[in-house]
Amino acid sequence: QPRVRFAPSPTGALHIGGLRTALYNYLLARRHGGTFLLRIEDTDQKRYVEGAEAYIVQALEWCGIVPDESPQKGGNYGPYRQSERRDIYQRHVQMLLDNGSAYYAFDTEEELDARRDAEMAAGNHNFRYDASTRGQMRNSLTLPAAETEALLAAGTPYVVRFRIDAGETVTFTDVVREEVSFQSAELGDQVILKADGLPTYHLANVVDDHLMEITHVIRGEEWLSSTPLHVLLYRAFGWQPPVFAHLPLLLNPNGKGKLSKRKGADLGFPVFPLEWHDREKNEVFAGFRESGFLPGALVNFIAFLGWNPGTEQEIFSLEELAAVFSLDRINKSGARFDIEKGQWFNQQYLIATADAELAPLVADVFAQHGHPIPLEKATAIAGLLKERVHELPDFFHQGQYFVLAPRQYEEATIRKKWNPAQAPTFEVLAVELEQLPDWTATSIKAATVAFMDRHGLGFGGVLPILRIAASGSTQGPDAFGMLAVIGQEESVRRLRVGIS
Ligand code: GLU
Repeated sequence: QPRVRFAPSPTGALHIGGLRTALYNYLLARRHGGTFLLRIEDTDQKRYVEGAEAYIVQALEWCGIVPDESPQKGGNYGPYRQSERRDIYQRHVQMLLDNGSAYYAFDTEEELDARRDAEMAAGNHNFRYDASTRGQMRNSLTLPAAETEALLAAGTPYVVRFRIDAGETVTFTDVVREEVSFQSAELGDQVILKADGLPTYHLANVVDDHLMEITHVIRGEEWLSSTPLHVLLYRAFGWQPPVFAHLPLLLNPNGKGKLSKRKGADLGFPVFPLEWHDREKNEVFAGFRESGFLPGALVNFIAFLGWNPGTEQEIFSLEELAAVFSLDRINKSGARFDIEKGQWFNQQYLIATADAELAPLVADVFAQHGHPIPLEKATAIAGLLKERVHELPDFFHQGQYFVLAPRQYEEATIRKKWNPAQAPTFEVLAVELEQLPDWTATSIKAATVAFMDRHGLGFGGVLPILRIAASGSTQGPDAFGMLAVIGQEESVRRLRVGIS
């Protein structure tokens, strides 16, 4: 049974790519009765953002992706925050030092800078600390043992580097990409323990995946180039690496280039908006939730960004996805992030959701625009409009007339359909509607039809007038349903204003 993890760094919003990674891990665990855990990779204190962890947890929860083990929930493999596992990493770094796979490096920042400058002056732009250069640096491989001891005893700052020797081909199998090979000479001697005593991502990630008994590492393609190093770390510890699956890149809507965060932000990139982003970058991030997505629709949309079920079926609940998900249906090629497809999913979900269930969301949207409405009214609006909208805010934008009298009328229709000489006839209709004992779509329709019959008028002569008077436009849902929601007194008032 798989044990999988989502291992975000708490550096900001949960973006679409991260959400997809979390979702695929979650689905694999659910599919096979395994375990999905959340691990917070917070060892890089420079990039740490206050509140980001809570944000990630909330965003996942909103989507229904709830971890079995996490910093919040605990579990048998904790702590689940890397900042609380410092001694574990130090112990493991010591194991690598002891078996010769790692070494102390005492080079100061100034020394490294000077070396880089010198290389640059000699026309070499990529100085790297590796098998070919470590011999000229200040580390425990070049210094006499006694000197290393003395430096350590004196508390001299150091980092620990992982030793990678040249001349080896590193090969591993990725579920998505099949066999991947790298030359060890292409890898540098990466720092695994920083001067502040905290591990780097690579070490902490490998140690934790092993200790947490992770069976499958499913993550974005941007981590593919780190995997050879990880494979070598597993070997240095004498551990079996997990199965790797690197998810395809997310591409811009036109299919050209990697999805840019900026573009993505315009498209509602994070799940929720983020105040800290607003402040730092002076940008407003609308989130999917805020732009009116239902969580099920967002999850369904994202599931298809890099995976397909191999059938024509497109609408899947989270449970249905969990029943069919498999790693071998992950696509190799990049996935186009097409927000219109996302809106289509959202519309399907709106249509499929019961009016009463949508009502609180619709009521929220109206309240946000300063027009609180009772749930009963919101239920009716949901029923009338849900097939016509893509996102929740559309309920207000398309249905303002439910709470506001029209301020202007469609001129072209008035020119075509309205003859001021008809005003007295329509006043008769106004009186009849005013006197209706009950106010429902059915009773309004019956009264209107009776009025049409008596005056020899057809729907074409009456409905556009009623619609324009009520909403300003001839577009919209069923006219009688609309009047029923607007209310008797207000509908009659608007009709009279319209014909005067
Ligand atoms: N902390 C890394 C991230 O933020 C985790 C990458 C991985 O899954 O190994 O994406």
